[in-house]
Amino acid sequence: MATPYPHISAELDLGFTRLKNRVLMGSMHTGLEERRNGFQRLAEFYRERARGQVALIVTGGVAPNRLGCLSPLAAKLSTAREVARHKVVPAAVHAEGAKILMQILHAGRYAYHPLAVSASRLKAPISPFTPWPLPGFMVERTIADFAHCARLAREAGYDGVEIMGSEGYLINQFIAARTNHRTDAWGGSYVKRMRFPIEVVRRIREAVGKDWIVVFRLSMLDLVSKGSSWEEILSLARGLQDAGVNLINTGIGWHEARIPTIASRVPRASFVAITKKLKASIDIPLVTSNRINTPELAEKVLADGCADMVSMARPFLADPDFVAKAQSNRSDEINTCIACNQACLDHVFKHKIASCLVNPQACYESKLRIKAASKIKRIAVVGAGPAGMACALSCARRGHQVSLYERDGAIGGQFNIARQIPGKEEFSETIRYFRVQLKLHGVRVLLNTEATAEAVRGYDEVVVATGVSPRRPKIAGISHTMVLSYLDVLKHKKEVGKKVAIIGAGGIALDTCEYLLGDGSHLEQSPEAFAEEWGFSLDGSERGGLKESKANYNPKREIYICQRSGAKIGNSLGRTTAWIHRVYLKKHGVKVLKNVKYERIDAKGLHLRIGGKAKTLGVDNVVVCAGQDPLRSLAQPLAAHPSLHLLGGAKEALELDAKKAIREGTLLGSRL
Ligand code: NAP
Ligand code: SF4
Repeated sequence: MATPYPHISAELDLGFTRLKNRVLMGSMHTGLEERRNGFQRLAEFYRERARGQVALIVTGGVAPNRLGCLSPLAAKLSTAREVARHKVVPAAVHAEGAKILMQILHAGRYAYHPLAVSASRLKAPISPFTPWPLPGFMVERTIADFAHCARLAREAGYDGVEIMGSEGYLINQFIAARTNHRTDAWGGSYVKRMRFPIEVVRRIREAVGKDWIVVFRLSMLDLVSKGSSWEEILSLARGLQDAGVNLINTGIGWHEARIPTIASRVPRASFVAITKKLKASIDIPLVTSNRINTPELAEKVLADGCADMVSMARPFLADPDFVAKAQSNRSDEINTCIACNQACLDHVFKHKIASCLVNPQACYESKLRIKAASKIKRIAVVGAGPAGMACALSCARRGHQVSLYERDGAIGGQFNIARQIPGKEEFSETIRYFRVQLKLHGVRVLLNTEATAEAVRGYDEVVVATGVSPRRPKIAGISHTMVLSYLDVLKHKKEVGKKVAIIGAGGIALDTCEYLLGDGSHLEQSPEAFAEEWGFSLDGSERGGLKESKANYNPKREIYICQRSGAKIGNSLGRTTAWIHRVYLKKHGVKVLKNVKYERIDAKGLHLRIGGKAKTLGVDNVVVCAGQDPLRSLAQPLAAHPSLHLLGGAKEALELDAKKAIREGTLLGSRL
């Protein structure tokens, strides 16, 4: 059968070696690198992705010396002992027929320790540590360390290295005038600033020979002031080509940039135009990246001539079989990365092991196994929200006979609400994934059906995943007709006036607020409109890519967000996305009121006290987003069943989110 994705499936000839297709699994730190037995677990993690037919994998960043480590105990490769630890990783990948590169990453001033070094003594806005400027002899030694590290990576069995030259790490810090104020042979003119990356490549090539893959991740759009101009990027790319690089990968945005580059708010494939621009002037193959998460999109990007290869990182956390499913015409079976960052990047920032919201088995390959059941049971799962769907699916994958009861007319639960929020449309993909998988695994889905005691009597196990209901705070006048719950707004589509006060400032309050601002779907926003909104250009016309935003905000409503505490709004959200919500709401003129005491609600609006001073918000509606309580009433009639399990929100509403719901559902299913 002809492959449905000919561009993805085409081989790539690098001269001395061939890649079996055009998909690269991009570098991601997992947190396993620093754990006991972490390399064994990493080997399992990469083995599964290799088995899923990805051609080329790039590991998370590994420092070439102690000073370059991201944190004091972060992974490094500079000794023979460390080589021994790495060996299991390439061996596992090779056993499955894929290739793997080790990424060499020197953190420079992003290192989270007092020994951080950089081109100049300039502190990064995202780090508390001021770096030490590398003296000339230490620059030479650092280059030697890069070359030594690459030689050791070859010894460990890797097929090559990717040199991290983007996202604002050390190499970028030498390249850009923003961070390189040196006046010696490594600073000043652009030619001198780009000497550092060119020397790193030249010395690595010298150390490893010609028949080994060297990739350079090049910052094609810095998204910070005093970043590189297009002419500089082009001359560096040509220099890298001449120095012996086999492939150039695309890097977008320094970590300190204040423009979203991978969050769900970023329209899909937003940055491929910049790779395409470079492709016209370079002979070696180019890899493009950022927010490419479906085979259809990857195919289109390649067919449009934007790049020679596509890099996807998080999509391989979500589904290790991404390529295999695409190549066998089963792309509807792919568990799609929804770009939430909640279990991957947000975990890494908290020094937790990365995983995936939609696939809790990611990085837990040897710990969370869905094994065939020794005794087949009849299992009823009540509630087809995230927890119920995940539980039903893992039970069915084990071979159990599963019925999934849902009183609504569709599966998905809270995901059906979330997917209407601008920037959260990707949740539709998760519902599609579960719909397809539940069918494939023979789960009997009973929609518009209440599970009664009579109906579940014959089952061996009953799982109650009936979810949560919105909390109704005890405020005088809470029953006034102007008061709506977030479900009234998002699910029941009740009419909402022009002036609105929101009670609560958690994730759902911010989501509801963004929905009420009325910008419409972010997924449908064009990359150009997104660039215009956030103040950058994709055509290489501006230094660092930055330009003034001329976006005209016409919020549909005047909105107040209120909270009793004095914390930042959206404080419970992850570090990688909370700031985006705050910037967005500010741009749309949303007013934030903190430290409020709610007095009452009446026809005049919401009456508050802030610091003892009375204030009335003369609004048309008050929308309550004050958290949730468990929805257990639906479970009462089933309570007599001898083997009843409460799951997700029905068990505990506190701090429940989609990540916890899917993880708990999968775990319970793996044990029943
Ligand atoms: P939440 O994060 O717990 O926020 C509830 C908000 O309601 C808080 O701001 C709290 O603020 C306020 N509140 C609580 N009890 C109240 C009361 N009795 N009276 C008045 N105000 C009260 O809950 P959520 O927004 O409903 O979200 C539920 C879960 O889903 C959370 O874990 C959340 O992180 C997650 N979620 C995540 C995302 C995401 O994008 N990552 C999006 C949506 C939801 P004060 O106490 O300061 O007033
Ligand atoms: Fe993608 Fe979210 Fe999973 Fe990260 S946690 S891989 S962003 S779906």
